[in-house]
Amino acid sequence: MKAIRGAITVDADSPEEIRKSVKELLDTLKNRNCLTDSQIICIMFSNTQDIRSYYPAKAGREAGYVSCALYSSVEPEIDGSLEKCIRVMILADTDRLPEHVYLKDAQNLRRDISHKLNIAIDGPAGSGKSTVAKIISEKFDILYLDTGAMYRACALACLHNGIDVKNQTAVGELLKKTEISVEYRDGLQVTKINGKDVSAEIRTPEISMSASAVSALKCVREEMVRIQRKIAETGSCVLDGRDIGTNVLPDAEYKFFLTASPEVRAERRLKENRLKGIEQSFEAVLNEIKQRDSQDMERTIAPLVKASDAVEIITDAMNAEEVADSIINYIQRKI
Ligand code: C5P
Repeated sequence: MKAIRGAITVDADSPEEIRKSVKELLDTLKNRNCLTDSQIICIMFSNTQDIRSYYPAKAGREAGYVSCALYSSVEPEIDGSLEKCIRVMILADTDRLPEHVYLKDAQNLRRDISHKLNIAIDGPAGSGKSTVAKIISEKFDILYLDTGAMYRACALACLHNGIDVKNQTAVGELLKKTEISVEYRDGLQVTKINGKDVSAEIRTPEISMSASAVSALKCVREEMVRIQRKIAETGSCVLDGRDIGTNVLPDAEYKFFLTASPEVRAERRLKENRLKGIEQSFEAVLNEIKQRDSQDMERTIAPLVKASDAVEIITDAMNAEEVADSIINYIQRKI
């Protein structure tokens, strides 16, 4: 069981304002902590004495929190305390690290614990981004979004429909009737095309090359970035890709750019592919990596480039755990 804290200030002491603020606070806490109704055991509110027109607990029930115990109390009057503030503690049956939520003026109460982590990891194919991002997401218990999987799904949809990945008009039309989505099962990303799980199918060398081509199209990037930002908005997360620090989340507080020589990256990819039963020669993988590098770096829209404020990590002589550790240490020092 976890105790999750939150607070919000209300603009006026009126039933409407209190109902609106309580709903905003509870819904944000529920979403950021990925809670279902049945995981919420109880919700306890306290409010400053200048809130008299409505019980926060009643507002909580009216906001749909009906299957848990709700309780409100009034706080003592303390000099200098925030005005019109509602505080909450939720007890929830969850294993996740709690994400506490402080909204409006209440943000000033606990800057230390209401911190939203947005971590951007960019770099070329084979630089180790996805393994490192997974370790980091587990360490901080935050969501991991593999954005490359979404471009891969676009490429696969084109392949299934016989559409040339370089044909902007045809790909644009296809995207209008195709839903690329991402869900999470047991904390792992499931990438879907029109509701069908394609997570395994998108991991072939052919799809890697097509994803690189299709990702250069404006219509594709606009749609994928829109979805990625929407997912990132829901709470703390680590995203990996090519343009996360420069374009998707330019305001991310933590940005990293991983690199390694093409030879080292090709060697890593060769090993990964072998584990999946894909046999290729070293030369073929190296060629593919080099071709993807130049396609990704030379395209006009959101090319692969290190954000000016990203920390560069050269990973040739490091394994994924070492890279993840250096990122985790860096973040923990700054938080
Ligand atoms: O990372 P991954 O190899 O799965 O990405 C496949 C392709 O998708 C990349 O080669 C790149 O062209 C494209 N991509 C992108 N922007 C991202 C993530 C991936 O253009 N944020």
